[in-house]
Parts: sequence; structure tokens; C-alpha cells
Amino acid sequence: MGGKSRDRIFGDKLRAAKIRLESAKRESRQADRSIIAAECEVWSARMEGYGGPAQPSPTIEQAIGAGFFFLEVKCRRCNHQGSVDLRHLRRHESTEIWRLEASLSCERCRAGHRWKAKVYMIKLSRARDTSGPWYAPDELDGH
Ligand SMILES: [Zn+2]
Repeated sequence: MGGKSRDRIFGDKLRAAKIRLESAKRESRQADRSIIAAECEVWSARMEGYGGPAQPSPTIEQAIGAGFFFLEVKCRRCNHQGSVDLRHLRRHESTEIWRLEASLSCERCRAGHRWKAKVYMIKLSRARDTSGPWYAPDELDGH
């Protein structure tokens, strides 16, 4: 078999296989994104409906990748609800969401009473709820 006919037979075969591989990779990536988005929804429903458990949870990177940009939290002391924009945290993107709770404090309590009131996590959300007052709790010092 000469070089030319080998290229005609195997070249076409190789090109077709490469196209199928790229297509399969695209489908796989899409499936991964769907799984992560569903994991964010499961975690949120568990937290909002049952108060936990918070572990395991998606990471900051996974939540953002699935379009969940906000972590909704509520102050344990004054009940004020707020949200944290996950895109603007000074944390590594591999940080698991549940690890954030301990380092967040209520902005309203800090401003009004100069103490750091703890918050608890409610859920991940795709959009900031604009129906009520919102604030972005800062991270505690040293974390
Ligand atoms: Zn508070």
C-alpha cells in the first residue's frame, strides 16, 4: 500500500475519530457542568430546608462556574439577611463553601454595636435578592 492511499484511508479515519473525540469531550464538559449545578441546588435545598448538613459542599469555583454567584447568609443575632458575592472573596477558588461561614460576620451588628456577630448560611443563589435590604458581610480579620 503506497503512502497516498494510506493517507486516504487512515487520514479520513483519523480526522473522523478526532471530530468524535472533540464532540464527546464537549458533551462530557456539559454533563459535568449540569452535575455541579445540580449539586449546588441540592446543597441549597438541604441548607434552606433542613439547616444542613453543610458538608460536603461545592467549592467557590464550582458555584461560580455553575452560575451561583451569591451565598445568602443570615445573622444569628439580629436576623438580618445578606449575601456574599463569591466572585469578590479574598479566598482561593478551591475553598469549599461551608468553610466560609466561620469567617463571615454581620455588617449591621458590626456597625451598630462594634462586635462581630456570626452568620449562618441559607443557600447559594444565582441572583441577588433585591426585595429586601442587603449587605455584604466582610470577612473576619485574620482569616
Ligand atoms: Zn446582625
